[in-house]
Amino acid sequence: MEPPVTTPRLLKTPDEVRWFANDLRRRGQTLALVPTMGFLHDGHLSLMREGRARCDVVAATIFVNPTQFGPTEDLSRYPRDLSGDLAKCGAAGATVVYSPEPSTVYPQGFQTYVTVEQVSQGLCGDRRPGHFRGVATVVTKLLALFRPDVALFGEKDYQQLQVIKALGRDLELGVEIVGMPTIREADGLAMSSRNTYLSADDRVRALSLSKGLFAMQAAAKAGEADVAKLVALGLAPLTAAQVKLDYLEVRDATTLEPLTTLTKEKPGRALVAAFLGTTRLIDNVALTLAGG
Ligand code: AMP
Repeated sequence: MEPPVTTPRLLKTPDEVRWFANDLRRRGQTLALVPTMGFLHDGHLSLMREGRARCDVVAATIFVNPTQFGPTEDLSRYPRDLSGDLAKCGAAGATVVYSPEPSTVYPQGFQTYVTVEQVSQGLCGDRRPGHFRGVATVVTKLLALFRPDVALFGEKDYQQLQVIKALGRDLELGVEIVGMPTIREADGLAMSSRNTYLSADDRVRALSLSKGLFAMQAAAKAGEADVAKLVALGLAPLTAAQVKLDYLEVRDATTLEPLTTLTKEKPGRALVAAFLGTTRLIDNVALTLAGG
């Protein structure tokens, strides 16, 4: 029989988090942290389930972080559903959920930010100035507050994952950063809280992102190493669906440096961002050359 699902305890202040985390450490229990912006779907929940498999206790955070949104982005309309999210967190094995107010995270006089250099450049880093500074700052604060053994993030936000791995390493935070595969809808669309913005027509056109990426992945698997040819393949469905492309690039999977040719030694990553109406979606896949 499944154990009964209990609603996680909701923490609102850093002091409450410190109490919780100190108590856990005193009892010798390990902690997995799953930071999110809420409006949870199966992608988020997969991180919590994996956290539960790796550690004694899972803590989730739900915080729509203002510093990672640009002035013209969707901060004020970002979807929220705290009570629904709490139930989902409980079912996925989280014991506590930290959901602070913005004024708690960024009180009057706040002036300390974390900037990760190389891997924040290009891709979303160029299109969303300040975005990764906001992400790196809030994630550093959460890691410093909880001091978890493991923190789990999705490959769905691939550049973000590399940024967080870099800050964990560089700041010697002593946490294992785990990247988890992208969870998709049955038809291939990467799950995202922002999918809720899509009209029925845009929902259909949004499939062109994963379609293009899968075509690139299959071609690489079949031996195509020329990045220009791979990109042309990936662009075809996007052009046919008339989506407004932000970028489609192939980068080194670890350093995120641009690649012109795939090699067996250096796995690549194809990354796309595109607008469906005013909704900006991102997705990415691994590119492994045949036999690599
Ligand atoms: P967000 O709430 O969008 O900030 O995402 C919180 C965490 O969930 C991040 O580590 C994301 O990369 C991860 N995530 C979001 N969507 C997915 C997905 N479709 N599959 C796996 N992880 C995801």
